[in-house]
Amino acid sequence: MLSHYHAVRVLGASAFDAEIILTHEKTHELIRERGEEDWASEFARMPRLAKDADSVPGLTWPTQTFADRTTIDLGGDRGELVLQYFGRGHTEGDIVAWLPKQRILFAGDLVEAQAALYTGDAFHHDWSGATLDGVKALGAEMLVGGRGAVSRGREEVDAAIEQTRGFLDVMIREVGAVHGRGGTLKEAFEATHAALVDDYGHWPIFEHCLPFDVSRLWDEFSGIERPVIWTAERDREVWDQLQG
Ligand SMILES: [Zn+2]
Repeated sequence: MLSHYHAVRVLGASAFDAEIILTHEKTHELIRERGEEDWASEFARMPRLAKDADSVPGLTWPTQTFADRTTIDLGGDRGELVLQYFGRGHTEGDIVAWLPKQRILFAGDLVEAQAALYTGDAFHHDWSGATLDGVKALGAEMLVGGRGAVSRGREEVDAAIEQTRGFLDVMIREVGAVHGRGGTLKEAFEATHAALVDDYGHWPIFEHCLPFDVSRLWDEFSGIERPVIWTAERDREVWDQLQG
């Protein structure tokens, strides 16, 4: 299963040579719509992703999709694996993989424990609200997020979820304030950076992600419903404007 369409999942997954690949139906649409651009953008942003990018055989396409929820019987007494969509969040089509019997949750990039968020394709308001509420209501005892530490025990699991929500809520507050008073994107970036850097600045990829994060949230406040496609060229423009 691919938790969402981002290149770090969709490209590397081809190495498994899987016969059955499951995604949310929106993820399938996103791969079709912007997979090639995301690939070019991602390799330019993070050349260390692959030593030999040309050896990647191509985008990984799902063989099955679903809209809401699907289950896989794991056989024996292992119970089932539940794949579930809780609404728009880190992207338009994130799913989690949930083992209800073992109470272990693989949250994809919807939850990051002790790592900064990438929100360049996100729906910040939905993610911070109903989507994380749904993830939290599963009541996991162990959570493996898309990046960062594994959370063990309800307290750590809830802390990881609330840390993710906290990052989003600070962004929404800061970017919303600058946008509301007619400020500039650069001012929104500086205000958000100042508000987050003490708590999150030492975590992986904070400086790397924040320009793209603020840019997408700015668009959201400007009424741009769906994330604009990232291309290598647009990446450079945003980076030079905000972080250069
Ligand atoms: Zn992602």
